[in-house]
Amino acid sequence: MSQQKTNQITEARLIESRVRKSLRELSAYSAPRLDCAVRLDGNESPFALSKGLETMVQNAIRKVEVNRYPDPEAKNLRNIISKVSGFSKDRILLGNGSDELIGMLITTFSGGTKKILYPTPTFSMYGLTGLAMGMELIELPLDEQFDIDSAVTIEAINKNNPDLIFLASPNNPTGNAFSSSKIREILDCSEGVVVIDEAYSDFSGHTFMPLLEEYDNLVILRTLSKVGFAGLRLGILYAREGLVREINKVRYPYNVNSLSQEVAEVILNDLEFVNENVQLILKERHRVYDRLSEIGGLDVYRSDANFIFFRVKGAGVIFNKLIKKGVLIRNFHSLGRLKNCLRVTIGAPHENEAFLIALRDVLSS
Ligand code: PMP
Repeated sequence: MSQQKTNQITEARLIESRVRKSLRELSAYSAPRLDCAVRLDGNESPFALSKGLETMVQNAIRKVEVNRYPDPEAKNLRNIISKVSGFSKDRILLGNGSDELIGMLITTFSGGTKKILYPTPTFSMYGLTGLAMGMELIELPLDEQFDIDSAVTIEAINKNNPDLIFLASPNNPTGNAFSSSKIREILDCSEGVVVIDEAYSDFSGHTFMPLLEEYDNLVILRTLSKVGFAGLRLGILYAREGLVREINKVRYPYNVNSLSQEVAEVILNDLEFVNENVQLILKERHRVYDRLSEIGGLDVYRSDANFIFFRVKGAGVIFNKLIKKGVLIRNFHSLGRLKNCLRVTIGAPHENEAFLIALRDVLSS
């Protein structure tokens, strides 16, 4: 073992002196992988590929030359996305999940006030990435129905003139879509970039994509993660060409790997599988919502997404007891606004049934 010299920098001192303070105070994003038979914690799709699609995917993967770099521009894939969405490929940028696109947006649009604004509770990566990149965060509480509080938001926008506003609609973890009229009010008064994160819009039946024709400062984020392909890590950004050109400058050259590009091309060429799965999840969401609403002592929030947010006394204990029964959901219980809040992803019918039975058991024990 090498002897450490006395004047040699220690790990602790190095971190203290060289890591940005805002980063030192952060905790990493965590999504624990507990070994549970029923996993309804990650807002993933429960459905594996159909046999036909699986064969096509395997054939596509066989063609990949892993000794070569991927197409840095992902041209074929962007062409297909362009065909499916009706937007020119110059208005489309791909990311290694929309997580990466959020980072790219913050890196690009940090040349004004260095402020990011978003309502809370919401997806944690806006704040986490913003802080890591030295931005100031302006967090505004959502109203009682978890909708945007217009008066408070517009006042804060006028006062702070944020570089970026993030609006996840439908919102995670609350599940509801925000009112379209309130989103328009925000777009009308913002001089920075407004990002509508539509990670869950396939389950809401609504998209703000048409507004891209009206507002130069609108960016829309989509992802394949929630509709069956979380493992591919493919996020899609739509915006004006000029904005896409700027954001593209901070993109790592080969950010979408060859396997993901090939597989995504196959999937997006035939959306029947995705559409069928979305319909199945919607049917199950209605059923789980109705069943949860029948259970006394639960406050169940309306969902426009592939998960349901609910409040129950003793949420922390209930969460742990569910794990013991082999059912993993997501615990949001904390002080304040999220007291006693839990979130359950809609799974396959048998998984939802296992969750409902386990919850009833836990509540009656
Ligand atoms: N936005 C929202 C609102 C999300 O909930 C998530 C996933 N939890 C993401 C973005 C990130 O999705 P991706 O898998 O595409 O990185």
